[in-house]
Amino acid sequence: MSSSIDPRSYQPRPQLLDGRVILVTGAGSGIGAAAAAAFAAHGATLILLGRNTRHLETVHDRIVAAGQPRPSLAVMDLAKAQGPAYFDLAAQIRANYGRLDGLLHNAAMLGDRTPIEQYDVGTWHQVLHLNLTAPFVLTQQLMPMLRESPDASVVFTSSGVGRRGRAYWGAYAVSKFGIEGLAQVLAEETRDATRIRVNCINPGGTRTAMRRQAYPAELPDARPEPSSIMAPYLYLMGPDSAGCTGQSLDCQ
Ligand code: NDP
Repeated sequence: MSSSIDPRSYQPRPQLLDGRVILVTGAGSGIGAAAAAAFAAHGATLILLGRNTRHLETVHDRIVAAGQPRPSLAVMDLAKAQGPAYFDLAAQIRANYGRLDGLLHNAAMLGDRTPIEQYDVGTWHQVLHLNLTAPFVLTQQLMPMLRESPDASVVFTSSGVGRRGRAYWGAYAVSKFGIEGLAQVLAEETRDATRIRVNCINPGGTRTAMRRQAYPAELPDARPEPSSIMAPYLYLMGPDSAGCTGQSLDCQ
């Protein structure tokens, strides 16, 4: 990372992502919707991936109404998708765009907030699958196209509880430790031989449905809106972060 840039106060130029094709998972709501809007506003063509068609269409329509590049929708439930669905997605992206320059792994679930001793094993599997295994499989399928990009960026979404364990955060915390590990391993594997950079981002407490689920008693305006934490996302997705790999950045 360039020592002169603090990604939290990064000021992107308007056409930062012109010509780039970027896939965002969990793009229908929360931080993913805000990231998709921010990337589109800076010139990127988006592939909006999520499980809820209506949510994705709302984000799509907002981007089109703003006169930005028309996104495409990839309706996919990452909790259930099997290998062929990932394969088809990669094939469709290649057929439609012929390229992929950015990948934001954002979709996740919270699971239970409960002691490890009582943690439900089924929920454990679901959380680890959606939050860790799905990003691994998706990355694996999309690597050939990312390798072909002149400047590719893979961003994994971490959390404070993915860096230091906290009581009762169970599988969610463990999945985010896993994401940090996955990002580090992939960053090392791509460091010298590719033009792909791989980093983690920790949004910090942000006003979304997941935050409400985790902290139901918190006042709604106690945390920033997703749209106000986008500077590090834009920094990592655009060319100004060239050479920054294997890092884990904070948005707040
Ligand atoms: P939300 O729960 O508000 O949004 C999660 C997104 O993931 C939604 O768009 C949701 O789709 C999608 N999603 C959930 N399950 C699936 C699935 N099975 N298949 C496909 N998509 C799915 O969460 P946030 O926006 O708060 O979180 C975004 C990321 O930021 C997550 O990785 C989270 O762990 C991380 N994070 C968030 C923090 C916060 O305070 N908000 C703090 C630290 C990290 P749908 O539209 O259907 O709901």
